[in-house]
Amino acid sequence: MKITKVESFILHVPLNPPITDAINSPTHWGLPGVRIFTDEGIVGYGYTGTCAYGDKLITDTIDDYYAPVLMGKDPFQVKEIWDELRFGQMHWIGRAGVTHMALAAVDIALWDIMSKAANKPLWQYLGGHKSNGIKAYNTNGGWLNWTKERLLQDISSYVEEGFTGVKMKVGKPNTQEDYDRVKAVRELIGNEIILMIDVNQQWNINTAMTWGKKLEEFDLFWLEEPLNPDDILGHKKLADELNVPIALGEHVYHKYAFRDYIHNGAVEYVQVDCTRVGGITEWLQVAGLAAAYDLPVVPHVGDMGQIHQHLVGATQNAIMLEYIPWIRDIFVEPTTVKNGYYVLPEMPGASTEVIPQYFEKYRVK
Ligand SMILES: [Mg+2]
Repeated sequence: MKITKVESFILHVPLNPPITDAINSPTHWGLPGVRIFTDEGIVGYGYTGTCAYGDKLITDTIDDYYAPVLMGKDPFQVKEIWDELRFGQMHWIGRAGVTHMALAAVDIALWDIMSKAANKPLWQYLGGHKSNGIKAYNTNGGWLNWTKERLLQDISSYVEEGFTGVKMKVGKPNTQEDYDRVKAVRELIGNEIILMIDVNQQWNINTAMTWGKKLEEFDLFWLEEPLNPDDILGHKKLADELNVPIALGEHVYHKYAFRDYIHNGAVEYVQVDCTRVGGITEWLQVAGLAAAYDLPVVPHVGDMGQIHQHLVGATQNAIMLEYIPWIRDIFVEPTTVKNGYYVLPEMPGASTEVIPQYFEKYRVK
């Protein structure tokens, strides 16, 4: 099989209503990505996710630097291609961020092609074993801009739908308000439902130590991204001193940084995101690294669940997956959660293919 055409795209899908966490207030979810065409008629779809800012930097990288390398290659040489792109012309100016997100889009499209050619959903192509589905937790009721009333109402409705885990955002200017909201949610859902909180990097070490200790009383399943994601030592200190496990990974861009987090005992729940970490090829390596330390992997989603359901479905130490159904409706085979469990896809490929009507409707030209 040979690659015959590489075509980048940008989709901006509106969020209704717009949401906020401690650092972003997106009105749209951005999908800068790529369609890779082959001489056997199979087309692979890959993309990364953004708050709809900076998307053209990602597609310019694909168009100007990655596409010329891809032309004529066999998609089944994915690992060789990955190395060639990673250590190619863009290595000097970007080994994380924009270039790794562009690499992720390409890599995902290649895995989509390979699993389509094998006529299997990606999770089966990867040797997946979780045919009974995978546990989902819901983040979509816990946004920072929700009033306390809406927060309680939404979280209550997700628990009624069958979710046994929920996550809420914290990081308000007044941390006492965060504390009061977490307390209200815990009182609402009782002790059987697992509860996670996500700071989105808003705290410094002193705030995290002080409020992390106070919040221990609510039996949190994890404390997510309390500090700047480059601060491995700060997270290690929190991991050592708090009785709440640390979760992070959505802003960690390659396996070397994960190695340092994991080896230093600075993270317990590894939230590696294949759309940030250079794709499925690197994601599998990070998941293997975590397995060697007996650490659970729970990928960041925000809404990249289409791809991650396959990876969790094929990885022994991946225990659960976030659910944020912002853009599921645009896909040919959208994610489906029933009674708190993802039902794994049946169609061949990575579930990244967009319905043509929505591809045109949301395309930014
Ligand atoms: Mg997060």
